[in-house]
Amino acid sequence: MLRGVRAGGAERRRPTSEPRVPRPDVEPAPSLIVNVTAAGFGFSLRATDGAARLGRIETPHGGFDTPAFMPVGTQGSVKTLLQRDLESIGAGIILGNTYHLMLRPGDALIARLGGLHRFIGWSRPMLTDSGGFQVFSLAERRRLIEDGAEFRSHLDGSLHMLTPERAVDIQARLGSDIAMVLDECLAYPATPEAAAASMARSARWARRCRERFLAGVPDGEGPATNPGQAQFGIVQGGLFPDLRKESVDLTRAIGFEGYAIGGLSVGEPIDEMYATVELTAGRLPPDQPRYLMGAGTPEDLVECVARGIDMFDCVMPTRNARNGQLFTSEGRINIRNARYADDPAPPDPRCGCYTCTHHSRAYLRHVYMAGEAVARTLNTLHNLTFYLDTMQRIRDAIALRTFDTFRQEFLRLRSS
Ligand SMILES: [Zn+2]
Repeated sequence: MLRGVRAGGAERRRPTSEPRVPRPDVEPAPSLIVNVTAAGFGFSLRATDGAARLGRIETPHGGFDTPAFMPVGTQGSVKTLLQRDLESIGAGIILGNTYHLMLRPGDALIARLGGLHRFIGWSRPMLTDSGGFQVFSLAERRRLIEDGAEFRSHLDGSLHMLTPERAVDIQARLGSDIAMVLDECLAYPATPEAAAASMARSARWARRCRERFLAGVPDGEGPATNPGQAQFGIVQGGLFPDLRKESVDLTRAIGFEGYAIGGLSVGEPIDEMYATVELTAGRLPPDQPRYLMGAGTPEDLVECVARGIDMFDCVMPTRNARNGQLFTSEGRINIRNARYADDPAPPDPRCGCYTCTHHSRAYLRHVYMAGEAVARTLNTLHNLTFYLDTMQRIRDAIALRTFDTFRQEFLRLRSS
C-alpha cells in the first residue's frame, strides 16, 4: 500500500494533542512513483506521456486526480455557485484566498468554528494562497520590508503586517489541505537586478515559512485546524532562466511537499511563459506535484500540461462568465452579442453541463441582458464544467498515451 512509503519531507511537530487525520484509503494502482511526505498528504504519479503526467494527490479531505484545475473561491465561495453545484460538476479541489479571509471574517473566527472546510460547508480538498498576491495587487499603501509586507486593508484602511510566519499561521488556522509560502510578487516587466533581489528575498521568506510550518502555530490566536496540512514552495525568477534555475535549487534545498511556479501569467508574451514553465518544471522533483499559479486560458492548460504541470488555478472561467463570455469547444463566445438573440442552440453542443442541456443561447442572452442573477450562475456553471471536462479529457488522453493527438485536435478546433 502507498502509505508505507516515505520519502523526502520532514516530520512535522505541531504542538497539538489532536489525533492525526487518518489517510484515506488509496487504491493500489500501478503507480510509477509514490511519495508521501506530510502526514495525510501524498502524490502518486500513475502514467506519463511525453512530459505530461497523470497522477493523484491524497489529502486529509480526500484525493483528486491530476492534472487538476482548481476553481477560485475567493471569500470561501466560488462566486454565483452553491458548493453543491461544484460537487455536481466534479470539482476535486477549490482555492481560497488568505488575504480576503484574514480580513473578513478573520482566521481566528474561522478556526473557532472548526476551520475553513466546516465553515464554508465543503468537505473536499482545499488550497489556500499566502495572501501575498492580493497584498501586492489589492491592498492600499503597502510597504515591503525584509520582515514582510505592511499594508492597509482595502475594506476599512486598517493597518496589517503579513510576515512569512503570519502567512503560515493564518493558513494553519484556516486549515486548508495545501498551504502556500509567502513570496514576493514581482511586477512585469522587471530588470534582471530587481528580479534577482526579489527571487532571493522570496527564497529567504520560503525558509522562514518552512521553519514556522515545521514548528507549528504558537498558542494565542486560535488553533491549527488541519494537522495533515501540506506546504508548497514557490519558484520565482521572472523570465530569466538563470534566476529560475537558482530559485528551483534554493526552494528544493528547503524541501516542501510540492512546488509551485509563480510570477507568470502577469502580462508576459505567451511563448516566454511557456518556455519558462518548460525550463522550471523540468528541474522540479519528478515525484512531487507541480502547480502553475494563476494560469490560465484553456490553451494554457493544455500547453502547460504538455510541459509537465499538474495543478492550475485561474479566475478566468468564473470572472469571464459573469461578464457574459463563455468558453466552448470551438472557442469563446460572448452571449451579449445580438447574433444570439434568436439562436436556439446550446452554448456548446459538445458540453453536457446543466446549462447546455437545458438552455439555449437565446435564453442565456435574454437573462443576461435582463440583469437576472441566474445568468451569472448558468454561465459560471458552464465555464467551470468546460474547464473541468478539459482536464478530464487531458487525463484520459495521458492514460491512453494519446495526449499529443488530443493537444493538436484541441488547438485546431479552437483556432478554426
Ligand atoms: Zn455547458
